[in-house]
Amino acid sequence: MGFLESGSPMRWEDTPEYHKILDYVIKHGVTQFLEVYEKVKDRKNDVLLWGDELEFHVYKTMPDGSVKLSLRAHDLLAKLEAEDAELLSKEGTIPQATWHPEYGAWMIEATPYGPYGGFSEDLRDVEPSLRYRRRRIVSALDKDEGLCSLVAWPLMGVGDFCVPSGLKPGGSVAESYFLPDELINPHPRFATLTRNIRLRRGKKVDIRLPLFMDEKTSLEPESVTGKTFAIKSQDNLTETRTRPKDVYMDAMGFGMGCCCLQVTFQARDLRESRILYDQLAMLCPIFLALSAAAPVFKGVLVDTDVRWQVIAQSVDCRTPVNLGAAEKPSTLPGATTPQRGTQRISKSRYDSIDCFISTEPSLRPEYNDGAMEMNQEALDTLLASGIDEPLARHVAHLFVRDPLVVFSERIEQVDDKLSTEHFENIQSTNWNTMRWKPPGLDVKTGWRVEFRPMEKQLTDFEDAAYITIIVLITRVILFFDLTLYVPISKVDENMRRAHARNAVLEQKFYFRKDLLVLSEQCDEDQAQAQAQAQAQAQAKTPVEEEYHEMTIAEILTGKGEEFPGLFPLISAYLEIMQADPETVELVNVYMDLLIARSTGDLPTTASWMRDFVQKHPDYKGDSVVSEKIASDLVHHCEKLSNGEIQDEALLGSNKIFPLSVDRCSRVNPRTTKNDSAMPSIPATPPQ
Ligand code: ADP
Ligand code: MG
Ligand code: MG
Ligand code: MG
Ligand code: MG
Ligand code: MG
Repeated sequence: MGFLESGSPMRWEDTPEYHKILDYVIKHGVTQFLEVYEKVKDRKNDVLLWGDELEFHVYKTMPDGSVKLSLRAHDLLAKLEAEDAELLSKEGTIPQATWHPEYGAWMIEATPYGPYGGFSEDLRDVEPSLRYRRRRIVSALDKDEGLCSLVAWPLMGVGDFCVPSGLKPGGSVAESYFLPDELINPHPRFATLTRNIRLRRGKKVDIRLPLFMDEKTSLEPESVTGKTFAIKSQDNLTETRTRPKDVYMDAMGFGMGCCCLQVTFQARDLRESRILYDQLAMLCPIFLALSAAAPVFKGVLVDTDVRWQVIAQSVDCRTPVNLGAAEKPSTLPGATTPQRGTQRISKSRYDSIDCFISTEPSLRPEYNDGAMEMNQEALDTLLASGIDEPLARHVAHLFVRDPLVVFSERIEQVDDKLSTEHFENIQSTNWNTMRWKPPGLDVKTGWRVEFRPMEKQLTDFEDAAYITIIVLITRVILFFDLTLYVPISKVDENMRRAHARNAVLEQKFYFRKDLLVLSEQCDEDQAQAQAQAQAQAQAKTPVEEEYHEMTIAEILTGKGEEFPGLFPLISAYLEIMQADPETVELVNVYMDLLIARSTGDLPTTASWMRDFVQKHPDYKGDSVVSEKIASDLVHHCEKLSNGEIQDEALLGSNKIFPLSVDRCSRVNPRTTKNDSAMPSIPATPPQ
């Protein structure tokens, strides 16, 4: 999660002085963006590099068999890094993974040490890399600890759910009814984010999920599921209560304590990064639904399968005016100045993207039909500095948010040419489905985009499948010059649908009828001419006729004569590239898993988990996931992740190799590097 600065983080205050500091950071953030943009805008011909990020929960099994979050990721990270350093100094072994802290004091994020490359054989490195990371973390754990790959810890916020035990909720940072502040990562950034979101809003975050109503679910106030909670008004004067059907959560930890799966790709240049950002945006809801793995929150089954809205609500810093209240900004008790935020903002800073940014002829203005609130001053500056309109709007939209963490020593940067810290401050706390990442000042890396919607899976095999497929989809988009555009409002509607229980089978999603696949391979000039001609033809079609509703299975595998489906395009791409047979075989295994999930031949992790709970002997049909059910679930999942057991109900005939076994790839490990490259442009077929 973002980068870790050091210094004294400032507490949010509604005072003229503090608001002035925020304005200063915003203003200089824009300048810093302009400085770096000017430097890197013409950077060309970067190669494809890409990498994943995965998060895990560390837990402890207590003598009575119950499971609790183990708040010592900090020690584990230090241990893993020390081991790496020792291997390097003693044996000269270059580390194979990088370990990162995350929001929760029990969480570990792991990435490959360096990004993967642009050869088809690189796809075969993913699963071994994931396996390696899991093995390393597991071997660093204490005997009674385990590594859990669930998205949401099932007992988060239920009773005494952490070790050390006896921690009390209601601390001064989150003021939660349920979560102790000690579970927040001790780096000051994380507590500051938590506190400042609450202070900016004027009250703590308010997360509601619909309760899953099972046969015997009770809404009586004395039942676990029927409990309601007091919500204070802004001025602290009045109180309302949550509804019994709401699964109510009130702290950032419920959201940022979820484990996600993110993948970052380096683009050839600025233009390609903008194309990828846009085109992948349409796939975010699809891959969210297809990777669904979060049916349990706070000890109950919920009536949704994915985490996204929980995180969105858990960091929603909008004030009443931002949320649309008609009144003028209120002044909170103890504040000297009215709350920040003078405009309505339609989404949380963690949400689906709001606008497309490419300058391709296929991007019709009608597609950008989202509510695009912008920082007007930033927009004016960007436009006056020559930034084109789509990009200026994107950046000005990022800057509609306030900085959440400001370090008092670091406000005055020596020179905006030498720092991007204020820009990154805003950028790294706009947690959208896609992130467009400009190169840093060190200019080591190129233009990148990050695909952020997917849910963490239970096994390395599944994670590798989702990662590999999305990488190949980026190649297919660029190689065949696909246009997936539908209006932003339809992407939003798809996001909403992706939250429905069993969305993968029961929902349809707005998707383009015609992907404008180039009729044949041609050089870049011909491709441009084709694109122009297509765009002109397209401009005559009403936008509403360009898309229709499709199932995820159709989107992946095709529909009728017109719509090829993404996976057949992947196969065609690999064939044209003359990818080695073993990589093709592996990709087929991965595609088969995702296809099986899209048709219901195999369940999503979420459906499987809901079933596990409902079939558990202790389950009473009342939506409650008891301590016993949760610990059995966690232990079962861990054994599955480590290859100690197999579960056909989740994975069919796909096997998970035991963690102890060195071989961890489905096909032979790669031996060479000089295989077919994965080009990203419409290119002449290889000779
Ligand atoms: P975040 O800011 O989202 O935490 P990071 O910069 O930490 O992202 O890296 C995310 C992923 O990007 C990692 O898997 C890393 O290996 C990969 N990565 C690093 N450099 C590049 C690059 N130049 N191009 C693409 N991916 C890269
Ligand atoms: Mg990261
Ligand atoms: Mg992370
Ligand atoms: Mg990072
Ligand atoms: Mg990331
Ligand atoms: Mg095009």
